[in-house]
This record gives sequence, structure tokens and C-alpha cells, in this order.
Amino acid sequence: MIVAIDGPAGSGKSTVARALAAREGFVYLDTGAMYRAVTLKVLKAQVPVAETAQVAKLAQEAVIEFVPGVPGEAPQVMLDGKDVTAAIRTAQIDQNVSAVASVPAVRQAMVAQQRAVAKNIDIVAEGRDMGTVVFPDAQVKVFLSADAAARAWRRTIEREGGNAAQPGAQVKDQALYESVLKDIQSRDAQDEANAASPLHPAADATLLDSTRMTPQQVVDAIANLVALAQARQAATASDNAAAAQSSVAEKGAPSQPASSQAAPAASGPDASKAKATGAKAPKTKPGQAPMKPFHNTFDDYYDHGMREFPLPARCVFNVAAGLIYGFSRLYWPWDYEGGQQLIDELKERELGTVMVMNHVSMVEPVITVVMFWRQGLRIRPVFKQEFNKNDLMRWVFSRVGGIPVDRGTADLKAVRRCQRALKRGESILIYPEGTRIRDDDGKAPIHGGFALIAQMAKTDVTPSAVIGVRDVTPEGAHIPRPHRVHFKVGAPLKFGALGVKGRKAQLEAMEAKAMDKVFELRAQLRRDYPGEW
Ligand code: C5P
Repeated sequence: MIVAIDGPAGSGKSTVARALAAREGFVYLDTGAMYRAVTLKVLKAQVPVAETAQVAKLAQEAVIEFVPGVPGEAPQVMLDGKDVTAAIRTAQIDQNVSAVASVPAVRQAMVAQQRAVAKNIDIVAEGRDMGTVVFPDAQVKVFLSADAAARAWRRTIEREGGNAAQPGAQVKDQALYESVLKDIQSRDAQDEANAASPLHPAADATLLDSTRMTPQQVVDAIANLVALAQARQAATASDNAAAAQSSVAEKGAPSQPASSQAAPAASGPDASKAKATGAKAPKTKPGQAPMKPFHNTFDDYYDHGMREFPLPARCVFNVAAGLIYGFSRLYWPWDYEGGQQLIDELKERELGTVMVMNHVSMVEPVITVVMFWRQGLRIRPVFKQEFNKNDLMRWVFSRVGGIPVDRGTADLKAVRRCQRALKRGESILIYPEGTRIRDDDGKAPIHGGFALIAQMAKTDVTPSAVIGVRDVTPEGAHIPRPHRVHFKVGAPLKFGALGVKGRKAQLEAMEAKAMDKVFELRAQLRRDYPGEW
């Protein structure tokens, strides 16, 4: 796996890339250090940077090596067999490196070396053009930025021997700060204007602004992207394995475990690769051990099928669902247009569906859960982790089959839980708007994880909409009021019918199409019931 981290000087790339590599057990590649080493060689040889032919020759001859030290710390940089770790971090190098790095032949030589290093290993490569030029097929691409003042502040503290990540860290020498800021601004301009490899994010890079993030937060965010990429790789590996198995079966060859053909082995020479792709099977899978009658953990509830919940929990759920069902029909007389077709289809098949809906109040998940329950099916609402801060809510949500998600991150654990639930035939209820949208038609930023969940479980996404709920709990009201509520369910959207190829393109198409459909259904409801929200 290749993790490509690009960004301007001082954006925190090095700190983050090193920490990430240490955490994931990947090799760390500091490509800036390579250009710095060449610059040192050029300055030592007293070759003017404008003499591009000579500069290029020096770059081609340069033997640059990294000697790894403590994981998470900067490796030793060797140039032609000599330790140049400190010598490449001087102001003189800072001032000349961009000019050297903009010589096309220098870049060619460095890019070839960088690709050679990354062959067949898991790597975190940091630089300016990792995602755009050197590794256009990197599985994870991040463009890390921060405003120039924040970057200069960090660099100055580092130069003064401090640690900018430490709370209370301060710049001591204001003049040094000013000069670092100037240098950063001029390097930004040069790097952006570098015709051979201008500094800009790859079209498919995730943009992270670290101005107000701690290095740890940035590392966590990228680690989540790595986990997602690993999950995608594992899903592709299992697809391939299944395809290989079915083609073997079709040919009538003796059956062989699919994993031995397409998926990397979990031991032997490929073990490290297997670990990196996430294809290695854990010893005991979450949700495998049966639940106890009492004293289960919250995770047990999230990891198990609702029908495997212990008897006391199932009894509580059934009684509560029955009461709420009866109450809701009287208090919020609701209709669920298209609901019966969906239920009938779900009863006919093994996989659940990922249902997405606009979000106005807490009433719609409650009604949806009891509507499914009444029909003998289960739908598990995905709820934001923040609700778990309240002990009672945490208890209730776990008992009704809720699955917590850490929003703003790629919460792989939640994705996996949903995937397993769907495979058991439970459906998943997601509110991609993330928060309750009460009084506008504007589209909130959409959390697109629902499409990934459906894709990983090889199921579909069912768009649906609700109106009438805003007046159940108007702004400021604490006690829900009686009001008519209307739901409308669309036909499940299949990945295969989206008309696009490729996992990533399909994900994007599904996210867009499903949400368009949700808002279309809501518009239809509003036309059918004028004045309702
Ligand atoms: O990352 P660092 O600040 O050490 O990089 C030093 C310089 O090397 C950058 O300002 C840039 O001019 C150049 N560089 C590059 N391409 C890379 C990495 C660094 O041009 N991939």
C-alpha cells in the first residue's frame, strides 16, 4: 500500500508521515530530504544552480540512503555514504532547494529512485508531487495544508529546538519567525510555479487543513483513510477470490479454497502484505461468541445480530416496540408509502438494505424501527457517537440495535458492524445529513459512508423521506406533540444499475443519486401534503 502525503513547507507532513508510518509499520520516505541532499551536493561542488546540465549530473550520481532509527523519529540521511542529516536542514539549503528541485532532470532522477524504493513495500511517502506524479495510483492520497503563519510558527519553534505540538509552545525569536515566514512564502511561490511538478493536490486527494489540528488528530484522520483503503482492498481481494472460485467450479476442476488462490496468505513470505491489506482473518471475529443472559458489553450489542440478543433484552425490546408502535399510530398517525413493497422485497431476500432518509426529528427513526419490527424485520439505526455520552441513551440505543459512528472520521469499526448486520439480513438506517435539518431546503453536507457500507455488503441503498415531523417537536418544545407524519420510500438503488464502472466511481454515483432521490421524495411528499414539513 502506498500512502502519499503532499503539502507545502511546514504543513506538518514530516511529523505526521513519520508517526503514521510508525503506527502502521510502513516504511517512511522523506522525498524532501532527497532534494535537500542533492542541493547539498550541488552547493559543495560549487556548481551554480543555473548550470542545469551539471546539476542534473550531480543528481544522477548522488547515492541517497535512509537509515531508519527509532520508529516515529527522523531517519538518518546518508549522501554518498556520509551522514548529512543535519547538513541538509540549514537556511542555505532552504534557500536553494526549490531551485534545484525545479530542474526537470533532477526530478526525473529522484522520481525514479522514489518509485524503486516503493516497489513491493508498504510506504508512507511525503513530498510535493507524491499523489500527482510519483504515485498516481497510491491507495491513499492526502494533501496537507495550513496557513503560512501557522507553518512559519511551527518551523521557527523547531529551529529553536522546541516542539510546536506541545501545549504552550512559543516562538522566542520574533526576527527568526519573520524570516522563516518570508522563506516559506517564497518557497510556496516557487513550488507552485515549478513547471516540472507544480505543487497542487491530486484530483482524488483528501484535503486536510492542519492549521487548527494537532499532529495526533491529523495522524488519526489519515490512519482512518488507510483503514478504509485496506477494507476496500480486502473487499476486492475477496471479490477476486469468489470469482476465482466460481470460475474453478465452472470448469469442473477439483474445488480448492478460494483464499489460497487470490487472497494473500496470512503466513509465510506474504504475511506482511496480508497484514497490510487487512486480508488476514482475526482469530475470533467480533460477534462470534454467543451473548450471555446478562453483563454483556455495549460492543456485544453492536456486534451481534438483534435476534442473538439475550432473552431479557429481546423481551424489553419487544414490549417497548409494541407500546411505541401503538402509541405512535395514535399520537402521530403515520403512513409509510412504499414501505410494504420494501418489506415484501426484504422478506424475499437474504441481504438487508441501507435505508437513507432526511432527518428532522428523533421521531422518524423511532417510527421506522417499530414499522420494521411490526413486520418481523429489524432495522438498525446508525447514531452519532456523541449520544453515548449520556448513559441512559447509550443503554437504550444499544438495546434497540443502534450502531454508533464516529462522525468526521472514516469509522471502519462502524462500517464493518453495518456490513455484518446487512449480511445477516438486518437493514441499516442512516441519516446522511448527520444532523437534524428542520427548516430549510438546503442540503447539509452529506456523510457519504452509507454508500461504502452498502458496497462492502454488496447490497443496495433505499432512499426514503419524511415530512410532518418538524411540528412534532417544534423549536423549543421538549414534549413531542401529536401530528400527522408521512413517509415515502423509493425503490432500492443497485450499484450495477448506476451506469458507472469502478468501485470509487460507483460510490460517488451512489452517494449523489441516493441523496437526490431522498430530496425528490421529500419534494413529492410536500406536494402531496401542502404546508407540511
Ligand atoms: O519537505 P521539505 O521542506 O524538506 O522539502 C524541501 C524542498 O524540496 C521543497 O521546498 C521543494 O522545493 C522540494 N521538494 C520537491 N518535491 C518533493 C519534495 C520536496 O520539489 N517531492
